[in-house]
Amino acid sequence: MSSLERIKGIGPKTVQILNRLNIYTMEDLVTYYPYRFNILERSNLKDAFQDDKVIIDGIVEREPTVVFFRKKMNKMSFEINTGETLLKATIFNRAFFKNNLKVGTSVTLIGKYDKLHNTIVASEIRLGMIPAVPQIEPIYHVTSGISSSQLHKIILSSLDQNWEIVDYIPDYLLGKYHFPGKRQCIREIHRPGNNASLKQAMNHLKYEELFLFMMKMNILKKKRIYEKGIERAISQSDIDEFISQIPFELTKDQLDCVEKIRLDMNSPRVMKRLIQGDVGSGKTIVAIISLYMNYKSGYQGAFMAPTEILAEQHYQNLLKLFEKMPIKVALLTGKMKKKERNELLAKLANKKIDIVVGTHSLFSDDVFYDCLGLVITDEQHRFGVRQRTRLKEKGISTDVLYLSATPIPRTYAITLYGDMDVSNIRLKPKGRKEIITELYQNKDIKIVLEKIHNEIRQKHQVYVIATQIEESETDEIENVKELKGKFERALGKICKVEMLHGKMSSEEKEKIMSAFEKNEVQILISTTVIEVGIDVPNATMIVIFDSYRFGLSQLHQLRGRVGRGNFPSYCILLSDRESERLSIMTKTNDGFKISEEDFKLRGSGDLFGTRQSGDMKFHLADIKQDFPILVRAKEDSEEVLNSQGYVNGKYSHLREIIESSMSLD
Ligand code: ADP
Ligand code: MG
Repeated sequence: MSSLERIKGIGPKTVQILNRLNIYTMEDLVTYYPYRFNILERSNLKDAFQDDKVIIDGIVEREPTVVFFRKKMNKMSFEINTGETLLKATIFNRAFFKNNLKVGTSVTLIGKYDKLHNTIVASEIRLGMIPAVPQIEPIYHVTSGISSSQLHKIILSSLDQNWEIVDYIPDYLLGKYHFPGKRQCIREIHRPGNNASLKQAMNHLKYEELFLFMMKMNILKKKRIYEKGIERAISQSDIDEFISQIPFELTKDQLDCVEKIRLDMNSPRVMKRLIQGDVGSGKTIVAIISLYMNYKSGYQGAFMAPTEILAEQHYQNLLKLFEKMPIKVALLTGKMKKKERNELLAKLANKKIDIVVGTHSLFSDDVFYDCLGLVITDEQHRFGVRQRTRLKEKGISTDVLYLSATPIPRTYAITLYGDMDVSNIRLKPKGRKEIITELYQNKDIKIVLEKIHNEIRQKHQVYVIATQIEESETDEIENVKELKGKFERALGKICKVEMLHGKMSSEEKEKIMSAFEKNEVQILISTTVIEVGIDVPNATMIVIFDSYRFGLSQLHQLRGRVGRGNFPSYCILLSDRESERLSIMTKTNDGFKISEEDFKLRGSGDLFGTRQSGDMKFHLADIKQDFPILVRAKEDSEEVLNSQGYVNGKYSHLREIIESSMSLD
């Protein structure tokens, strides 16, 4: 018999429902925490605004009338005397409750206050008055077959039974923070006394959650320290000659990154480093030098990009920079013929290729390396965690370098990249000018055309971005195909206009991109396929139609396509709708600020891709709001991990839970 069935009133059916919520044991049940709380405190209707959520009680003064409509629906109306006013009440689909509402009955209503009509549109109705002392009611995530309040009842009755609970936080830390102990916290969170005691319990449980997470992160990091990697002996003079051939002078930040990477590679441990740098800060060259160092020490390298267009660009870059050297570089693409692909794969497996560039297909099942020493992931935020796992599946423990243009605010970096070393490229190459960002309405298109014309006259090039490829039902939105026609009519006499979008074949895309790179095409109308990585320094203007439809980070990435040379560059945002994002764009060019704002506007959401949904789900903690707790948890977990106690098995429970959760990953 499942231990759950011992709880009064729980039968096999309920057990099944609980199992669907991943509740199998008493401990699962009591640690099934609420996700929010309702505070049952009588509202003051005088201070409430139209449509505010209110809680009010009173005595039924006019009994309900019920109307039925659309077969199964019904609406019940009645009146209660609240002591201050005669309040009208309506509630849907509660006809079954009618007979409870005789005149003189006291009821509590929760719902929306329609102040204009002095009516509460209730979503909940209960018999009895609101308790004099404000009550806090936990609300749980549930599944069909059980309501939050039913689950609450079950949890409450289980709290009075025997249950085991392990406090994973070491005693000395419980003392340090005056935490009340987990058992008490659990009671409190399901049966809150008052705001203060609930908050204290929440803090304890949040801390535990973050502490366990940080323990895990730190262990991952530590494991890597002991994981035997490739120990190389690359000297500065090995790379000096190569660096001296690069057609520009590296910035100090770029040189610092290269040095860090060199030391990482020379150390016996596995490298796992993230290079963060704003769009256009010059991360690619750092990657290329790393590939060179890796080659020099006798290993193969893989350079992975999120799109084929970008992979092609990296490939061309490598060919150019390694032109005079015997380094064999290859590009693995999806459009390769079977025979061609097999030949390439055979060469990779026999070390006849030194460096391979491609998309995630670099780690397809049929790809084998002879001696892979370095994997570089460009625009790593585009990939998420799954890719890393694939590397591990292949049994590869190579050095890894991640490049990312999406700076993660410090708040998130600690958790997200807790197991990596991070370097930043803050300085842009010398001579770069601030990109000028301007906002226009569609009716001002003439002015915008003038500006484009002006750039073309100076032999510069222009990107034009639209969200859609072709006309759709929502015809207010510009699309690539029509814009191509429009721009050809307007400027076709003085320049060549081309288009690029995701529905084109790889060959077509490549042809157009290469024509744009050679300045055989001056205006490139494109969807967001060019959003990341593309580097054509002669392009000095990007015009974004319907720009209100883009997210802030996306706009910043798109803007980063220009301002890559020493010419003044422009970003023109066209929009008939106002949006806070657009005005932020006109105010700052700083990627860190932009990402902070982006987080503020929509939370950590999309930026992390799969990483967010996979690694970072907390039940109670919110990494932004609870940042101070996170910082403490991070420091404490480091201390515990490095302590004798941990080594000697003093914290055996802690060790067990962490090791078992890690083996699941
Ligand atoms: P991102 O960091 O966005 O990937 P890239 O690596 O594509 O940026 O570099 C943007 C442009 O700046 C490229 O054309 C690159 O050749 C150039 N660049 C990189 N570093 C320097 C430098 N130190 N001095 C001048 N130009 C540089
Ligand atoms: Mg890049």
